[in-house]
Amino acid sequence: MADSFDEECDYLFKAVLTGDSGVGKSNLLSRFARAEFRLDSKPTIGVEFAYRNIKVADKLIKTQIWDTAGQERFRAITSSYYRGALGALLVYDITRAATFENVKKWLRELRDFGNSDMVIVLVGNKSDLNHSREVEEEEGRRLAESEDLFFMETSAMDNVNVEEAFLEMVRRIHAIASQKSL
Ligand code: GDP
Repeated sequence: MADSFDEECDYLFKAVLTGDSGVGKSNLLSRFARAEFRLDSKPTIGVEFAYRNIKVADKLIKTQIWDTAGQERFRAITSSYYRGALGALLVYDITRAATFENVKKWLRELRDFGNSDMVIVLVGNKSDLNHSREVEEEEGRRLAESEDLFFMETSAMDNVNVEEAFLEMVRRIHAIASQKSL
């Protein structure tokens, strides 16, 4: 794994975060991009994004990850947010069933506006709050299987599976991209 931004990269991938407001998208991104947890995140208006360089099979991949920065609260996400994205983390909060029920709506948006072979990882975040769980892990797994998504429960707070979720997405994007260029 490499994190130097000065190196020449072999690929540049765009990926997006999506899901209801408050599920932990910004905190997942800051964990992944800057290895930190922001307890008091203040959603600002306007898309935010972060870069991270990742080495996969000797290739240096620069991943640009877009965050809604709170715009989903105002239904203000437009098709340009998804355009050109090769991957997505679709996030819900395991302590709020409504955020899981909305996964299908977000999936529809991703499929309507994103690339047809976009890699989508379904993420059940806040696994540290198991005592207030409203969505069983099995429900997430079943939905992911039926929709052909990769699935993972994460905790941005405790830094559990965050790295794994993003890296799995990048690995799968790379696998598709390298097949295409054969
Ligand atoms: P966003 O609106 O989807 O970007 O969500 P944020 O990243 O702003 O997080 C919303 C709230 O959930 C904040 O108060 C975070 O501190 C909190 N939060 C985010 N991830 C976790 C997590 O894994 N565990 C817990 N307990 N709280 C979290």
